[in-house]
Amino acid sequence: ARKQTSRKAVGFYKPSMHTFVKENLLSEMNLQKGLDLKQFQLFYQPQVCCNTGEIEGFEALIRWQHPERGLIPPSKFINLAESTGLITQIGEWVIQEAVAQLKKWMTEGKEHLTIAINLSPAHFLRTDLSEYLLKCTQSAGFKPQNLVLEITENVAIEDRDAARNRMAELRAMGFSIAIDDFGTGYSSFAYLQNLPVHQIKIDRQFIRNISTNQNSAAIVQTIVQLGKTLNLQTVAEGVETKKEWDMLKQFGCNSIQGFYFSKPLPVHEVDRLFQNEGGVLK
Ligand code: C2E
Ligand code: MG
Ligand code: MG
Ligand code: MG
Repeated sequence: ARKQTSRKAVGFYKPSMHTFVKENLLSEMNLQKGLDLKQFQLFYQPQVCCNTGEIEGFEALIRWQHPERGLIPPSKFINLAESTGLITQIGEWVIQEAVAQLKKWMTEGKEHLTIAINLSPAHFLRTDLSEYLLKCTQSAGFKPQNLVLEITENVAIEDRDAARNRMAELRAMGFSIAIDDFGTGYSSFAYLQNLPVHQIKIDRQFIRNISTNQNSAAIVQTIVQLGKTLNLQTVAEGVETKKEWDMLKQFGCNSIQGFYFSKPLPVHEVDRLFQNEGGVLK
Protein backbone atom coordinates (compact mmCIF):
# COMPACT_ATOMS: atom_id res chain seq x y z
CA ALA A 1 0.00 0.00 0.00
CA ARG A 2 2.85 2.31 0.90
CA LYS A 3 4.51 1.72 -2.39
CA GLN A 4 1.26 2.44 -4.15
CA THR A 5 0.97 5.85 -2.45
CA SER A 6 4.49 6.99 -3.13
CA ARG A 7 4.23 5.89 -6.69
CA LYS A 8 1.10 7.95 -7.11
CA ALA A 9 2.66 11.00 -5.48
CA VAL A 10 5.71 10.97 -7.70
CA GLY A 11 3.62 10.04 -10.72
CA PHE A 12 6.55 8.46 -12.44
CA TYR A 13 6.61 4.76 -13.28
CA LYS A 14 3.84 4.64 -15.80
CA PRO A 15 4.69 1.83 -18.16
CA SER A 16 3.19 3.67 -21.11
CA MET A 17 5.42 6.64 -20.41
CA HIS A 18 8.49 4.45 -20.12
CA THR A 19 7.79 3.03 -23.55
CA PHE A 20 7.28 6.53 -24.90
CA VAL A 21 10.63 7.78 -23.59
CA LYS A 22 12.45 4.69 -24.80
CA GLU A 23 10.96 4.97 -28.28
CA ASN A 24 11.84 8.61 -28.47
CA LEU A 25 15.46 8.02 -27.52
CA LEU A 26 15.60 5.31 -30.08
CA SER A 27 14.33 7.55 -32.81
CA GLU A 28 16.62 10.40 -31.82
CA MET A 29 19.58 8.19 -32.62
CA ASN A 30 17.81 7.00 -35.74
CA LEU A 31 17.10 10.54 -36.82
CA GLN A 32 20.81 11.34 -36.95
CA LYS A 33 21.38 8.03 -38.69
CA GLY A 34 18.58 8.83 -41.12
CA LEU A 35 20.36 12.06 -42.02
CA ASP A 36 23.75 10.39 -42.35
CA LEU A 37 22.34 7.61 -44.52
CA LYS A 38 20.30 10.06 -46.63
CA GLN A 39 16.98 8.43 -45.81
CA PHE A 40 15.05 11.69 -46.02
CA GLN A 41 13.16 12.56 -49.15
CA LEU A 42 11.26 15.62 -50.36
CA PHE A 43 7.79 15.18 -51.80
CA TYR A 44 6.41 17.99 -53.94
CA GLN A 45 2.83 19.23 -53.89
CA PRO A 46 1.76 21.43 -56.83
CA GLN A 47 0.43 24.94 -56.30
CA VAL A 48 -1.96 25.96 -59.04
CA CYS A 49 -2.77 29.46 -60.27
CA CYS A 50 -6.49 30.22 -59.92
CA ASN A 51 -6.54 32.34 -63.08
CA THR A 52 -4.83 30.01 -65.51
CA GLY A 53 -5.15 26.61 -63.83
CA GLU A 54 -1.43 26.09 -64.38
CA ILE A 55 1.17 24.84 -61.96
CA GLU A 56 3.16 27.78 -60.60
CA GLY A 57 5.29 25.93 -58.15
CA PHE A 58 5.44 23.32 -55.41
CA GLU A 59 5.63 23.02 -51.67
CA ALA A 60 8.42 20.65 -50.63
CA LEU A 61 7.33 18.35 -47.81
CA ILE A 62 9.78 16.10 -46.04
CA ARG A 63 9.34 12.34 -45.61
CA TRP A 64 11.57 9.81 -43.90
CA GLN A 65 12.06 6.65 -45.89
CA HIS A 66 12.80 4.35 -42.96
CA PRO A 67 14.26 0.92 -43.85
CA GLU A 68 11.99 -0.95 -41.41
CA ARG A 69 9.06 1.37 -40.81
CA GLY A 70 8.48 2.62 -44.33
CA LEU A 71 7.53 6.18 -45.21
CA ILE A 72 7.29 8.29 -42.05
CA PRO A 73 5.40 11.62 -42.21
CA PRO A 74 6.89 14.83 -40.73
CA SER A 75 4.31 14.88 -37.92
CA LYS A 76 6.13 11.85 -36.46
CA PHE A 77 9.64 13.35 -36.29
CA ILE A 78 9.75 17.14 -36.73
CA ASN A 79 8.98 17.81 -33.05
CA LEU A 80 11.77 15.48 -32.01
CA ALA A 81 14.14 17.11 -34.48
CA GLU A 82 13.23 20.48 -33.02
CA SER A 83 13.73 19.45 -29.42
CA THR A 84 17.08 17.80 -30.12
CA GLY A 85 18.42 20.61 -32.31
CA LEU A 86 18.76 18.33 -35.34
CA ILE A 87 16.20 20.50 -37.11
CA THR A 88 18.90 22.89 -38.35
CA GLN A 89 20.77 20.09 -40.10
CA ILE A 90 17.52 18.76 -41.52
CA GLY A 91 16.54 22.26 -42.66
CA GLU A 92 19.90 22.75 -44.36
CA TRP A 93 19.44 19.45 -46.16
CA VAL A 94 15.98 20.62 -47.32
CA ILE A 95 17.48 23.87 -48.64
CA GLN A 96 20.18 21.98 -50.57
CA GLU A 97 17.64 19.60 -52.09
CA ALA A 98 15.22 22.35 -53.08
CA VAL A 99 17.98 24.43 -54.63
CA ALA A 100 19.24 21.43 -56.62
CA GLN A 101 15.71 20.74 -57.85
CA LEU A 102 15.15 24.37 -58.89
CA LYS A 103 18.42 24.29 -60.76
CA LYS A 104 17.38 21.10 -62.54
CA TRP A 105 14.04 22.60 -63.60
CA MET A 106 15.84 25.71 -64.75
CA THR A 107 18.04 23.71 -67.09
CA GLU A 108 14.86 22.05 -68.43
CA GLY A 109 13.40 25.44 -69.27
CA LYS A 110 11.01 25.67 -66.32
CA GLU A 111 12.48 28.87 -64.90
CA HIS A 112 9.14 30.17 -63.66
CA LEU A 113 8.58 27.39 -61.11
CA THR A 114 8.92 28.12 -57.42
CA ILE A 115 9.61 25.81 -54.49
CA ALA A 116 8.33 26.61 -51.02
CA ILE A 117 10.17 25.07 -48.09
CA ASN A 118 9.10 24.91 -44.45
CA LEU A 119 11.50 26.35 -41.91
CA SER A 120 11.20 25.69 -38.21
CA PRO A 121 11.26 28.75 -35.94
CA ALA A 122 14.58 27.76 -34.36
CA HIS A 123 16.22 27.47 -37.75
CA PHE A 124 14.63 30.63 -39.10
CA LEU A 125 15.90 32.65 -36.14
CA ARG A 126 19.52 31.51 -36.52
CA THR A 127 21.81 34.37 -37.50
CA ASP A 128 23.64 32.22 -40.06
CA LEU A 129 20.51 31.28 -42.07
CA SER A 130 20.79 34.11 -44.61
CA GLU A 131 24.42 33.36 -45.26
CA TYR A 132 23.65 29.68 -45.72
CA LEU A 133 20.83 30.41 -48.17
CA LEU A 134 23.00 32.79 -50.11
CA LYS A 135 25.82 30.26 -50.30
CA CYS A 136 23.46 27.60 -51.65
CA THR A 137 21.65 29.75 -54.19
CA GLN A 138 24.50 31.88 -55.51
CA SER A 139 26.20 29.21 -57.57
CA ALA A 140 22.87 27.77 -58.77
CA GLY A 141 22.11 31.03 -60.57
CA PHE A 142 18.33 31.25 -60.17
CA LYS A 143 16.32 34.16 -58.85
CA PRO A 144 16.06 34.06 -55.05
CA GLN A 145 12.30 34.72 -55.32
CA ASN A 146 11.91 31.23 -56.79
CA LEU A 147 12.61 29.91 -53.31
CA VAL A 148 9.73 30.66 -50.95
CA LEU A 149 10.42 30.37 -47.24
CA GLU A 150 7.39 29.26 -45.23
CA ILE A 151 7.30 30.12 -41.56
CA THR A 152 4.49 29.88 -39.06
CA GLU A 153 3.14 32.70 -36.98
CA ASN A 154 4.83 31.33 -33.86
CA VAL A 155 8.20 32.54 -35.07
CA ALA A 156 7.51 36.04 -33.82
CA ILE A 157 6.40 34.77 -30.45
CA GLU A 158 9.83 33.30 -29.82
CA ASP A 159 11.65 36.52 -30.62
CA ARG A 160 9.85 39.31 -32.38
CA ASP A 161 12.86 41.52 -33.09
CA ALA A 162 14.97 38.65 -34.37
CA ALA A 163 12.08 37.53 -36.59
CA ARG A 164 11.68 41.00 -38.06
CA ASN A 165 15.41 41.38 -38.67
CA ARG A 166 15.70 38.01 -40.35
CA MET A 167 12.71 38.69 -42.59
CA ALA A 168 14.01 42.09 -43.61
CA GLU A 169 17.40 40.55 -44.37
CA LEU A 170 15.93 37.72 -46.46
CA ARG A 171 13.56 40.02 -48.33
CA ALA A 172 16.44 42.37 -49.11
CA MET A 173 18.31 39.40 -50.56
CA GLY A 174 15.29 38.65 -52.74
CA PHE A 175 13.77 35.57 -51.08
CA SER A 176 9.99 35.32 -50.75
CA ILE A 177 8.41 34.80 -47.35
CA ALA A 178 5.10 33.07 -46.75
CA ILE A 179 3.15 32.86 -43.52
CA ASP A 180 2.06 29.24 -43.22
CA ASP A 181 -1.19 28.11 -41.58
CA PHE A 182 -2.38 31.71 -41.59
CA GLY A 183 -5.13 32.48 -39.10
CA THR A 184 -4.33 29.74 -36.61
CA GLY A 185 -1.63 31.50 -34.57
CA TYR A 186 -1.64 34.27 -32.03
CA SER A 187 -0.31 37.12 -34.10
CA SER A 188 -1.76 36.95 -37.60
CA PHE A 189 -2.51 40.64 -37.89
CA ALA A 190 0.55 41.90 -36.05
CA TYR A 191 2.55 40.09 -38.72
CA LEU A 192 0.92 41.88 -41.55
CA GLN A 193 1.27 45.23 -39.85
CA ASN A 194 4.99 45.08 -39.21
CA LEU A 195 6.69 42.44 -41.23
CA PRO A 196 7.83 42.23 -44.85
CA VAL A 197 5.72 39.24 -45.80
CA HIS A 198 5.02 38.31 -49.41
CA GLN A 199 2.40 35.56 -49.24
CA ILE A 200 -0.17 34.16 -46.83
CA LYS A 201 -1.25 30.54 -46.84
CA ILE A 202 -4.80 30.21 -45.57
CA ASP A 203 -4.96 27.24 -43.23
CA ARG A 204 -6.85 24.12 -44.22
CA GLN A 205 -9.12 24.35 -41.18
CA PHE A 206 -10.88 27.33 -42.82
CA ILE A 207 -10.82 25.91 -46.35
CA ARG A 208 -12.29 22.53 -45.49
CA ASN A 209 -15.57 24.09 -44.32
CA ILE A 210 -16.12 26.81 -46.90
CA SER A 211 -18.78 24.96 -48.85
CA THR A 212 -20.82 24.04 -45.76
CA ASN A 213 -20.18 26.79 -43.21
CA GLN A 214 -20.95 30.42 -44.01
CA ASN A 215 -18.61 31.66 -41.29
CA SER A 216 -15.66 29.79 -42.79
CA ALA A 217 -16.52 31.13 -46.21
CA ALA A 218 -16.70 34.67 -44.83
CA ILE A 219 -13.35 34.29 -43.05
CA VAL A 220 -11.62 33.01 -46.19
CA GLN A 221 -13.19 35.71 -48.33
CA THR A 222 -12.02 38.34 -45.84
CA ILE A 223 -8.46 37.01 -45.76
CA VAL A 224 -8.34 37.02 -49.58
CA GLN A 225 -9.63 40.60 -49.58
CA LEU A 226 -7.06 41.59 -46.97
CA GLY A 227 -4.36 40.03 -49.13
CA LYS A 228 -5.48 42.13 -52.09
CA THR A 229 -5.53 45.32 -50.04
CA LEU A 230 -2.07 44.71 -48.60
CA ASN A 231 -0.72 43.47 -51.92
CA LEU A 232 0.00 39.96 -50.65
CA GLN A 233 -0.37 36.67 -52.51
CA THR A 234 -3.00 34.36 -51.07
CA VAL A 235 -2.66 30.58 -51.28
CA ALA A 236 -5.41 28.25 -50.07
CA GLU A 237 -4.17 25.05 -48.39
CA GLY A 238 -5.95 21.72 -48.36
CA VAL A 239 -8.36 22.24 -51.27
CA GLU A 240 -10.06 18.87 -51.73
CA THR A 241 -13.16 19.44 -53.87
CA LYS A 242 -14.31 21.14 -57.05
CA LYS A 243 -16.77 23.20 -55.01
CA GLU A 244 -13.93 24.61 -52.89
CA TRP A 245 -11.83 25.32 -55.97
CA ASP A 246 -14.75 27.15 -57.63
CA MET A 247 -15.46 29.21 -54.53
CA LEU A 248 -11.80 30.17 -54.08
CA LYS A 249 -11.56 31.26 -57.72
CA GLN A 250 -14.66 33.35 -57.23
CA PHE A 251 -13.23 34.95 -54.06
CA GLY A 252 -10.16 35.97 -56.05
CA CYS A 253 -7.65 33.80 -54.24
CA ASN A 254 -4.33 33.68 -56.14
CA SER A 255 -3.50 30.00 -55.93
CA ILE A 256 -4.56 26.70 -54.46
CA GLN A 257 -2.83 23.64 -53.13
CA GLY A 258 -4.56 20.42 -52.13
CA PHE A 259 -5.59 16.87 -52.87
CA TYR A 260 -8.19 18.10 -55.40
CA PHE A 261 -5.34 18.78 -57.80
CA SER A 262 -2.66 16.50 -56.39
CA LYS A 263 -1.26 15.09 -53.20
CA PRO A 264 2.46 15.57 -52.50
CA LEU A 265 4.45 13.47 -54.99
CA PRO A 266 7.94 12.03 -55.24
CA VAL A 267 9.93 13.94 -57.82
CA HIS A 268 9.73 11.36 -60.63
CA GLU A 269 5.94 11.57 -60.49
CA VAL A 270 6.14 15.36 -60.69
CA ASP A 271 8.01 15.04 -63.96
CA ARG A 272 5.24 12.79 -65.25
CA LEU A 273 2.67 15.42 -64.20
CA PHE A 274 4.30 17.90 -66.59
CA GLN A 275 4.07 15.44 -69.45
CA ASN A 276 0.28 15.22 -69.00
CA GLU A 277 -0.83 18.43 -70.71
CA GLY A 278 1.26 20.53 -68.31
CA GLY A 279 -1.19 19.47 -65.63
CA VAL A 280 -3.72 22.23 -66.29
CA LEU A 281 -6.70 22.37 -63.94
CA LYS A 282 -10.06 23.32 -65.42
P1 C2E B 1 2.20 22.41 -43.80
O1 C2E B 1 3.41 23.15 -44.16
O2 C2E B 1 0.99 23.21 -43.46
O3 C2E B 1 1.92 21.44 -45.04
C1 C2E B 1 0.66 21.10 -45.51
C2 C2E B 1 0.25 19.71 -45.06
O4 C2E B 1 -1.08 19.46 -45.49
C3 C2E B 1 1.09 18.58 -45.65
O5 C2E B 1 1.19 17.54 -44.69
C4 C2E B 1 0.24 18.13 -46.84
O6 C2E B 1 0.48 16.79 -47.23
C5 C2E B 1 -1.13 18.28 -46.27
N1 C2E B 1 -2.13 18.49 -47.30
C6 C2E B 1 -2.00 19.14 -48.47
N2 C2E B 1 -3.15 19.16 -49.16
C7 C2E B 1 -4.05 18.52 -48.41
C8 C2E B 1 -5.46 18.21 -48.59
O7 C2E B 1 -6.08 18.54 -49.58
N3 C2E B 1 -6.06 17.52 -47.58
C9 C2E B 1 -5.38 17.14 -46.47
N4 C2E B 1 -6.05 16.45 -45.54
N5 C2E B 1 -4.07 17.42 -46.26
C10 C2E B 1 -3.42 18.10 -47.22
P2 C2E B 1 2.56 16.83 -44.33
O8 C2E B 1 3.38 16.65 -45.59
O9 C2E B 1 2.25 15.64 -43.52
O10 C2E B 1 3.31 17.92 -43.46
C11 C2E B 1 2.80 18.30 -42.21
C12 C2E B 1 3.57 19.47 -41.65
O11 C2E B 1 4.94 19.09 -41.36
C13 C2E B 1 3.68 20.64 -42.59
O12 C2E B 1 2.50 21.40 -42.58
C14 C2E B 1 4.88 21.36 -42.01
O13 C2E B 1 4.50 22.16 -40.92
C15 C2E B 1 5.74 20.23 -41.50
N6 C2E B 1 6.83 19.96 -42.47
C16 C2E B 1 6.77 19.29 -43.65
N7 C2E B 1 7.98 19.27 -44.26
C17 C2E B 1 8.80 19.97 -43.46
C18 C2E B 1 10.21 20.33 -43.55
O14 C2E B 1 10.91 20.03 -44.52
N8 C2E B 1 10.72 21.06 -42.51
C19 C2E B 1 9.96 21.45 -41.44
N9 C2E B 1 10.56 22.16 -40.46
N10 C2E B 1 8.66 21.14 -41.33
C20 C2E B 1 8.08 20.41 -42.32
MG1 MG C 1 3.98 24.63 -45.27
MG1 MG D 1 0.61 24.97 -44.29
MG1 MG E 1 -1.46 23.71 -42.39
